[in-house]
Amino acid sequence: MSIATGTASANSIKEALNNKTVHHFIGGQFESSASGDTFDDINPATGEVIAQISSGGVTEIDMAVSAAKEAFDRGPWPRMSLRERCDILRKIGDLILQYKEVLAHAETRDTGKPLSESLEGDIPRAAQNFQFFADYAQAITEECFTVSDNERHIAVREPLGVAALITPWNLPLYLSSWKIAPCLAMGNTCVLKPAEWTPFTAYLLGFIAKEAGLPPGVLNVVHGFGAHSAGEALTRHPDVSCISFTGETTTGKAIMSAAAQTLKKVSFELGGKGATIIFDDADLKEAIPTAVRAAYRNQGQICLAGSRLFVQEGVYKQVVEEVVAAVKQIRVGDPLDRNTQMGSIISLEQLEKVQEYIQHGKKEGKLLTGGDRVKELPNGYFLQPTVFSDLSFDSRCCQEEIFGPVLPIIPFKTEQQVIDMTNSTAYGLSASIWSSNVDTCHRVSQKIRTGILWVNCWFARDLRTPFGGQKSSGIGREGGRYALDFFSELKTISYKYKA
Ligand code: NAD
Repeated sequence: MSIATGTASANSIKEALNNKTVHHFIGGQFESSASGDTFDDINPATGEVIAQISSGGVTEIDMAVSAAKEAFDRGPWPRMSLRERCDILRKIGDLILQYKEVLAHAETRDTGKPLSESLEGDIPRAAQNFQFFADYAQAITEECFTVSDNERHIAVREPLGVAALITPWNLPLYLSSWKIAPCLAMGNTCVLKPAEWTPFTAYLLGFIAKEAGLPPGVLNVVHGFGAHSAGEALTRHPDVSCISFTGETTTGKAIMSAAAQTLKKVSFELGGKGATIIFDDADLKEAIPTAVRAAYRNQGQICLAGSRLFVQEGVYKQVVEEVVAAVKQIRVGDPLDRNTQMGSIISLEQLEKVQEYIQHGKKEGKLLTGGDRVKELPNGYFLQPTVFSDLSFDSRCCQEEIFGPVLPIIPFKTEQQVIDMTNSTAYGLSASIWSSNVDTCHRVSQKIRTGILWVNCWFARDLRTPFGGQKSSGIGREGGRYALDFFSELKTISYKYKA
C-alpha cells in the first residue's frame, strides 16, 4: 500500500522523524508491508518504542528488486552521463549536511550513541561518502591496450545491474552511504536492507533521494530481519547481480551459501578483533589515550576497535594504571547530553551477550574496573567501560569479537611473541602499533595479518585507500577504486581498424 508523502522539504523530513511507522521506499514511493506486519523500533537509551517498522519479506523484496530492475533496464540512471549521475549524488551529500541535525537525532535515538558522535562523526561522514564518490568516480580511467595503429583493445567498465546492499547497526547511515554512493555512481540500481535495529536514517534517506532528483527505483529500501526474512530473500533473488554486505562473520557465511545458488559477486566486510600493541619505547602520552578511544568509541561497537591491548613488559604496570584511570573518567550517560562520551549498547540482546563475556573474564582473569550495568540508568542498556588483566591471549575474551566496551590488557616480552598473539584470532581486520623505533614498526607491520594497520595512530582514514579484512574479516575491499571495481564489470572491446 502506497503512502502519500508530499514534497520532501526540510519540514517533511522533520515530520518524518516523528512518524510512528517506518515505511519501505520502493520505486520512489513509501510503502507499508503487504501483510501489514510491523515490529518495534526501540530507543536503547530509554527502552521506549519509537515507532513501528514495516516488516518486509519475500513480497517486498520482489517489489523492490523489480523496481530496481525496471530502473536499470529502462530508466534513465544507467543511460545518464557519469557527470549527471555524480551531480545527483553530490546533491544527496549536500542534503545530508543540510538535514544533519534531523539525521543525527534519528541515528542517536536508534543506536544510543552520543549525539555529538552522530553530529560530528557519522552524519558528516555519510555526506562525505556521497561527495567523495561523486568526485572520484569521474576521475577513474579505462585501460587501452594498443597492439598497433590498426589494433586496440579497450577495457570498459559496465554496471552490474541490481545490487543488494546489506548493512549493520553500529554505523547505520555511515555504512549504508559507503555502499550506495559507489554502487550508484557506476550506474547500478540497488536495494538496501538496513539492520532491523536501526532503520530510521535509511527511511529518511528516501526523502533526501526524492528531493535530490534521484529517479524512482534507483535506490530502494526494504526493512526487515535477516535470516528467513527480507535479508535472505534479497540474497537469493535471481535478479540481484551482486551483494555488498557488512556484518558478522557467521552471517557472511550464510549469505555466501545463499548467493552461491545464483553465483552472485560478493563483497564482505565482517567481524574484527583489533589489537593495540604498545612497545616499551612508545610515546605513552599519545598511545594511552588513543588505546582507550580505540577500545570504547561507539561503546566498543566498531569493527576496527582496538579490543585487545598488548603491552611490553617494561611499561606494562604504568600503562595498566593509566588506562584504568582514564577509563574511570569516561562519562557514560544520556546520549543527548553533549558531555556524554559513551552511550548505551544497541539492544538488550547485545548487552546480555557482552555481559556473558564479562562473566568469562571474571572467572578467567582479573576485573580492574567496570563490569556492571550503569545503575543510575536502569531503563537503557548502559554498561560500564570494563578492563581486565590476567587473561590468557587464547581466552574467549581475547579471541572472540565481543563488540562492546570490554578491554583485556595482555603483557608481552618479545616482538615475535606479540606477533603470534595478535595473529592467533580467526580475524584479520585491523591493528595499531606504537613504538618510536621505525624499524620495529616496519618489521611488525609486515608480519601482522590484517587489512588495515596503523603505526602510531588509530582510525586515520583516507577514503581512496583499500578497506577490508583478511582471514575471517572479509572478502574484497571497499573504498576508492576498489569499491568502483566491485560495482562494475570489465568488458574488453577489441578494435581492428582498416589501415
Ligand atoms: P549481522 O550480521 O547480525 O547483521 C547485519 C545485517 O545482515 C543486518 O541487516 C541483518 O538483518 C542482515 N542479515 C542477518 N542475517 C542475514 C541472512 N541470513 N541473510 C541476509 N541478511 C542477513 O551484524 P550486526 O550485528 O548488525 O553488526 C555487527 C557486526 O558487523 C560485527 O561483527 C562487526 O564487526 C561487523 N562490522 C564489520 C565492519 C567492517 O567494515 N568489517 C563494519 C561494521 C560492522
